[in-house]
Amino acid sequence: MQEHKVEWSDWCPGCGNFGILSAEQQAITELGLDPKKVVIVSGIGCSGKTPHFMRLPISGVHTLHGRAMAFATGIKLSNPQLKVIINAGDGDQLGIGAGHFVNSGRRNIDMTLIIHDNGVYGLTKGQASPTLKLGLKTKSLPKPNINESINPLAVAIASGYTFVARGYAYDVKHLKELIKQAISHKGLALIDVLQPCPTYNDLFTKEYYDKRVYKLEEVKGWNPNVTKKEEEDEKIAIALEKSLEWGDRIPIGVFYKNELLSTFEERITERSPSYADNM
Ligand code: SF4
Ligand code: MG
Repeated sequence: MQEHKVEWSDWCPGCGNFGILSAEQQAITELGLDPKKVVIVSGIGCSGKTPHFMRLPISGVHTLHGRAMAFATGIKLSNPQLKVIINAGDGDQLGIGAGHFVNSGRRNIDMTLIIHDNGVYGLTKGQASPTLKLGLKTKSLPKPNINESINPLAVAIASGYTFVARGYAYDVKHLKELIKQAISHKGLALIDVLQPCPTYNDLFTKEYYDKRVYKLEEVKGWNPNVTKKEEEDEKIAIALEKSLEWGDRIPIGVFYKNELLSTFEERITERSPSYADNM
């Protein structure tokens, strides 16, 4: 594989984005994906720079604020053989891009969405993002946050995502395995990644997360996989309940996985059997 030279990165020292970038590159490499068939799509924000910093000869598109999912959908549907990975911020994807976030779930397109979730709009100096909880005051806010927050995992489950997980940017090995599972999953996958922003978010720091995160796969009896239709409602209810756990203990890992549902590409092929020919 030819190395793609990256001479610089303007992410701040200690930024969680470095962990996500590293895990993502390792996952793509370990899965042995053909670089010509991998496309990274990003929106606007610090996370939007991810395709620029990849040291792999893959394609990348740095798109518009909130529109990464729409671009990715077009790319995937025009060539379903491509592996499409979207890197977007919490502000980008769950604020202006929330409509695309929800409606992509209804389609269940076979793609992977990685949200760099730092609770702030880092690129524009740390305003409260949709995942910052009501009443919290990061160092960049003049007053405590006046809005309640969105729970990305719960919204994804309710919208129809068929793989829903949470990772932690500084557990690169664990995150890499989650990304590998998400890319291999048949259907739309979300990984919400806890991503410390040391420059603007002094609440959700590496020290904060290090002592709180625990792995769901280490919990006795945890099994998020839906293997038959009758299990669906129960597994959704368990995943939703688990997605609310936030405090002294914060779960990471796979919350929900269901490959029984058809993908959008399969539904198109049913209507137009020649859809994927000649690709
Ligand atoms: Fe990372 Fe925050 Fe700096 Fe952006 S502002 S590069 S999210 S540390
Ligand atoms: Mg953000």
